[in-house]
Order: sequence, then C-alpha cells, then structure tokens
Amino acid sequence: MTYDRPCSEKDLFFFVISAQQYKLNPSMKAMVINAVSNLDFQSEPLEMVSLPDPLPGPGEVLLRIKSCGVCHTELDEIEGRTPPPWYPMIPGHQVVGRIESIGRGVSGFQKGDRLGVAWIFSSCGTCSFCISGKENLCRDFKATGRDINGGYAEFITVPAVSAFVIPDQFSDVEAAPLLCAGAIGYRSIKLSGMKDGHRLGLTGFGASAHLMLKMILHKFPSSKVYVFARSKKEQGFAMDLGATWAGDTGDTSPEKLDAIIDTTPVWKPVVEALRQLKPGGRLVINAIRKEDTDKEQLLQLDYTSDLWMEKEIKSVANVARSDVIEFLALAAEIPIIPEVQVYPLEEANKALLELKNRKIRGAKVLTID
Ligand SMILES: [Zn+2]
Ligand SMILES: [Zn+2]
Repeated sequence: MTYDRPCSEKDLFFFVISAQQYKLNPSMKAMVINAVSNLDFQSEPLEMVSLPDPLPGPGEVLLRIKSCGVCHTELDEIEGRTPPPWYPMIPGHQVVGRIESIGRGVSGFQKGDRLGVAWIFSSCGTCSFCISGKENLCRDFKATGRDINGGYAEFITVPAVSAFVIPDQFSDVEAAPLLCAGAIGYRSIKLSGMKDGHRLGLTGFGASAHLMLKMILHKFPSSKVYVFARSKKEQGFAMDLGATWAGDTGDTSPEKLDAIIDTTPVWKPVVEALRQLKPGGRLVINAIRKEDTDKEQLLQLDYTSDLWMEKEIKSVANVARSDVIEFLALAAEIPIIPEVQVYPLEEANKALLELKNRKIRGAKVLTID
C-alpha cells in the first residue's frame, strides 16, 4: 500500500497502525480538517492534533516545514467546494522546508537543502497530458493539502520531482506565497495571451493578483493594468504597486481591455469583466471553484454585448511543474518580494477567517517552529 493515493479513513487507520511509512510515536503537530464545515458558523474548522512523524518512501524527501502559505483554496476544501477524499487531512500547498531525510532512489539532494512544495504533488506521468508538460490536466493529478497531507504541520513527505529549489534571496515566509498565488498567477498570464502594449484587467486584488501586477509590469513594460476590487484598501494597494487605474467591481474601466484575469470567488465580476473586454478579448478565470452565493448573476449575461464579437472565457486548472520552476526564476529576477502577514501554526483558524472576511493586505503565511 502506498501513501500516494486517496484512501478511506479505515484504510488510513490500518495504514497508520501498520506504520510502514510512519514512526509510531505521535509527535508531529498538525492542524487538520476533520469534516466539511461552514465558516460563517464554525470559527475553528481546523483542529490541532499530534500525528505520527511521516517517513519518506522511495523517490520522496521528508521536509521539516518552516512556513506554509494560507490560500483561498483551503476555504474551498473546508467548506466542501473541493473537499478532501478522506479525513483528517492536513491542508496547505505553499510549503517551504528543509530536507530532514531522503528516501531510496533520490539523488541530487542533501540534508538541509531548502525546497518548496506547490499545489502539484503528483500525476500519473504516462498519459498524453503528462508527457506533453500539461500534467496539471492529468486525470490522476494529486493536489498537495487536498488529496495528500500538506503543509499545516511540522513535516511533509513529497516526491523529489515535485520539490522545487527556492532562490536564496527569499526568506522562508516570503517564498511561501510564491508557490501558489505566484505560480498560478504566472500560468494565468501565459493563458491570457497578452503581449507588451496590451491592456490587462485584474478583477479582485488578493495575493495572486498583487503578484501578477508585479510580473506584468516587469514582463510587459508598455502595458497598462486596470484593477477592479471591492474595497478602497485593495484599490489603493493596487495603485501603490503601479496600476494605471483602480475602481470597484461594477465600475467601467476608462478603456476596453485586451484580456482580464479574474481572481474572485464569485460570479458577478465575471459578467462585468466580459463587458470591459475589447472584441476578441479573453477572460481568464483563475479560481479552482466558484461560490454559488451569487450564481443568479449569470442570468444578467447578455450575449450581444458580453460574449459576441469573439470574446473568450478560459479557466486555469492547477499548475504544471514548469509553471513553478519558471515563475520562481522570474520572481528572483524581478525580484518579487511578496508582502506577507505572518501567523504561528496554532493560529491557522484565525488566518483562514481573516482571509474569508477579506482582511487582506498581501499574503497570509503560517510559521512553524
Ligand atoms: Zn493556493
Ligand atoms: Zn497523467
């Protein structure tokens, strides 16, 4: 039995008991999801527990975790929009740690190396998507912290091929948000098809969008960026970082846009973004799941003004390994040093609630001693 597949709680129980991949004494601190819950009524959805220390299997490394980013996807996991296949599950897919031990068959790493783990944990490696560098679309794609235990803990085991070297100029907490918000933002920009001189819109201005703004201004110096965000604080933050214009989600931008990247969890900004596009423009939706709370907004969609004239809608699914590798190199070159707000692991619930309530300035990161 391997650890690299979803299994039932019963399986997991026998797995833990058999201790093939764990030490028996429970000593690792972890914050876990035990069930689907509604954060409007449950303010402490994660429970602090002690679990057996994981051991690296063949091809894997064991990392002692230093930091882990907090992502909106954790809210989707907890609230059941993309639930884990079994419980308890350790969430967290923006993990920075140092190698504690190395499994059989792994070369090129040594104890103490600093590595990052992103949303991509594993894929089948043999399907047409995997062999063409689109492993993000693989049927057997496994996501760190949703399908396999993630980084809200003291240790994590990960396939060595899915562990990425972190450039030296980033601290442990600065590197964490680069691994999801940054990498998926990088993929979104690629998928937007934008070129230098194009006008790009961003709807929503959380962790991913603020990193995208920095990337766009660096890669496309003649381009202008227009930001649609609900709060004045987010609008001000966007202007501070170099946006040409910032307004509310319902506002009309002063010019029609070549592409828009949507990073919000809801539908209203999607309909409004389509109206801001030029003919032939493309809307990229960077969200793993949309909330259903305002789904009726889709009925406001008017084909003639919102979709006709060859406008396109494209979603972003997961990340490929190349996205993480290319983005980390770009982030080091620019450099992109994310603005972070730090919480100890024990306060993961507080960080998640503040994320849900949009108390955002930069990215939230847990530190693990
Ligand atoms: Zn994420
Ligand atoms: Zn595959």
